[in-house]
Amino acid sequence: MELQPSEVTSVLKKEIEGFESSASTEKVGQVLQVGDGVARVYGLDQCMMSELVEFPDGVMGMALNLEEDNVGCVLLGDASSVKEGDPVKSTGRIISVPTGLAMIGRVVDALGNPLDGKGAIDTTDADLRPIEQPAPSVIEREPVSQPMATGIKALDAMIPVGRGQRELIIGDRQTGKTALIVDAIINQKSTGGGDPTHPDQVICVYNAIGQKQSTVVDVQLKLQAAGAMAYTIIVNASADHEASMQFLSPYAATAMAERFRDAGRHVLIAYDDLTKQAYAYRQVMLLLRRPPGREAYPGDIFNLHSRLLERSAKLSVNAPDLNSRFEKGGGSLTALPVVETQEGDVSAYIPTNVISITDGQIFLEANLFYSGIRPAVNVGISVSRVGGAAQTPAMKKVAGGLRINLAQFRELEAFAQFGSDLDEATQQSLSRGARLVELLKQGQYVPMSNAAQIVALFAGTAGLIDSVELDRVTEFEAGFVEYMTDNHSDLMATLNNWSTKWNNEMAEEVTGACAKFLTTFNA
Ligand code: ATP
Ligand code: MG
Repeated sequence: MELQPSEVTSVLKKEIEGFESSASTEKVGQVLQVGDGVARVYGLDQCMMSELVEFPDGVMGMALNLEEDNVGCVLLGDASSVKEGDPVKSTGRIISVPTGLAMIGRVVDALGNPLDGKGAIDTTDADLRPIEQPAPSVIEREPVSQPMATGIKALDAMIPVGRGQRELIIGDRQTGKTALIVDAIINQKSTGGGDPTHPDQVICVYNAIGQKQSTVVDVQLKLQAAGAMAYTIIVNASADHEASMQFLSPYAATAMAERFRDAGRHVLIAYDDLTKQAYAYRQVMLLLRRPPGREAYPGDIFNLHSRLLERSAKLSVNAPDLNSRFEKGGGSLTALPVVETQEGDVSAYIPTNVISITDGQIFLEANLFYSGIRPAVNVGISVSRVGGAAQTPAMKKVAGGLRINLAQFRELEAFAQFGSDLDEATQQSLSRGARLVELLKQGQYVPMSNAAQIVALFAGTAGLIDSVELDRVTEFEAGFVEYMTDNHSDLMATLNNWSTKWNNEMAEEVTGACAKFLTTFNA
């Protein structure tokens, strides 16, 4: 059959259209130099900052230095097979990680690959999220208003953290930084019974950066034993992972957390710790020959931490008078970044940076820790700049004077070391202060409910336990909380309601109960 000329043209046209749409141009460059986990690549002149690039055998890399005639890339994963002269493809996208409910309960690396030997994670391409996301804008946020209860008396009473806040945990090595995080995660079980699909359950993400593998395993086992892995994701970039994975892991962990935040859920994320992330970043940047600045860190080290921590926010539920596109579902992302200091030096570069980015800091001190005050929080210099707005009203009332009482106690204590004759009032302040210090001690893995904290602290601040022997205060506390739970369950339930206000009847009830309990306790 002969084709008419017009038909020929239309067939040809179709062919050409098909050809055009299926053809794509690929940017391919060449490895100039490779070593120490970084590669310089020639010929990728269209490459973007942070773009994912592909080496042979599926090894991925990320462009970090865009120079005039080459691109400096860090290699992600096993880089031993990459050689000089290898082709490098640019992909036009940035790194994405899987997110969603399927990630919960799992231990994954910085790219979201499982590390726990429990098989593949059931996520689809739709669950992928880029690890870098812009932080919510001012208009999409609202002030912090709900407590992120940690279950730790010293924090909830004096340095309260609110949902959407960034509270830095800072201290020397082995001062109980990780312990605070583990307890705060365990305490979130009370928000939704540990069921990750419950809308009130706070989802937790623990990001280990440059930690000993044994520490991470320990955290995982402790969370498992407390039933807390049921709502927790562990993103592990421990010390044996490449430096590139270590410094990328917080962004990946945040992307996983944001998936829940953006769905209106409340999320707690801990970065343990950002000092090691900065070390990893410095290492990579020095290998890429970025000019070193203060403490040999590259010039954008502040941005490394600020663009990460700005992603923590309390999103608005509905902003009145504003367009509905600013309704963000009211979710929140609370960050507990950790920074390790050397000899308590908070004026080093990374500590000052992160202090200035966060909304407060919890200082842990080695000498408090060794003198048995655990958690070793230095109440005098720890602050929470926004969390007070989120403290429960009853806790605020009962614990209001605690900080100042403790400060006075410390002052008197220092003073009393010199004098022998002390008047009665001073002696009484001293003995009450010492009991408050005892009362604020708390073991690991035993977070306390709001009600338990309130009744225990009330007993201390109201002077109900001035007669209790100092070394029996801890025993008193445990017994009294149990007594209250057994015999005054209505009051305890009321106090566990976050909106309850403290009133005189409650004070009388606790005072009466305490007197009754003390008769058997002292006997
Ligand atoms: P590193 O600098 O190594 O990360 P860290 O500051 O995270 O240390 P942890 O590992 O949390 O410190 O705690 C150090 C040790 O102190 C651990 O053995 C831990 O069990 C113990 N510890 C922490 N908090 C308490 C506490 N409240 N009561 C008793 N022991 C505690
Ligand atoms: Mg630690």
